[in-house]
Amino acid sequence: MSDFRDIPGWTVETLHEDHAQALRETALLYDSETEHQRIRVFRNPTFGRIMTLDGVVQVTEGDEFIYHEMLTHTPILAHGAARRVLIIGGGDGGMAREALRHASVEHVTMVEIDAGVVEFSKTYLPAISDGAFDDARLELVIADGAEFVRRDVAEGEGYDVIIVDSTDPIGPGEVLFTDTFYGHAKRILNPGGILVTQNGVPFLQGDELTNTMRAFKALFAEGTCFMATVPSYAGGPMAFGWGTDGEARQTSLATLRARFKKAAITPRYYTPEVHQAAFALPGYVLALMP
Ligand code: SAM
Repeated sequence: MSDFRDIPGWTVETLHEDHAQALRETALLYDSETEHQRIRVFRNPTFGRIMTLDGVVQVTEGDEFIYHEMLTHTPILAHGAARRVLIIGGGDGGMAREALRHASVEHVTMVEIDAGVVEFSKTYLPAISDGAFDDARLELVIADGAEFVRRDVAEGEGYDVIIVDSTDPIGPGEVLFTDTFYGHAKRILNPGGILVTQNGVPFLQGDELTNTMRAFKALFAEGTCFMATVPSYAGGPMAFGWGTDGEARQTSLATLRARFKKAAITPRYYTPEVHQAAFALPGYVLALMP
């Protein structure tokens, strides 16, 4: 019998040992190896265009809004006065797109290790960045995020919100899950700043969340996570790490609603109510907290 991963017309993601995700592939649009990873883009009738890096789904046109909106609007609106945002990873431009929707955000630095991801996303997934790469407020740096955060920041050059939009902790993304990286990220946060991270699907990647939470609880006055279900990241809701020394997590619903109205953004997933509910953690996730 042939291996289930070789079924013609299907792409099978085998990120986890005991669980795989199969996506019907109706057209292959791009398949190439960069210095860092293998990039593929194919079409699926439900999810639209899908990008994989080393065989792992990174982004789909169909459900990317959930992931990008929750990792940007949640910290930016909880902060309330975010002017400078740092995105680590994020090569497809979706995170920059959502951060730049906030007129109050004056500057976004995006540090992506792989210029290949940015270039091909502009060509093959233009709807995801939706012009973000042409926004004068965006500074794109092609570098390892772990190296970037080591630098000293001058007065006024720290960040109010840092978003880690990384691959999983294998390959080039591994360094973005280390205590050293988190420590440097905290160092370049402005007072009251917030660090958020993509932390995988805790039902399948529990260790990943436990490790990040251990680091966050040691570093920040408040280290927790919030959650959202992104269908193409199979296995249940995703966890997003949340670390801050400020009071942002306590922002009332009334304040979030007022800020949301003032920001005049029209997301498809994020609402102030979803924002608050996302921090309510189920028992199996609380059990993963150190
Ligand atoms: N949403 C996806 C997920 O949850 O699987 C991840 C998004 S994808 C845009 C992640 C990006 O992180 C990729 O473009 C990858 O090249 C980049 N990346 C991986 N390791 C990095 C590093 N050390 N520094 C900066 N960017 C990195």
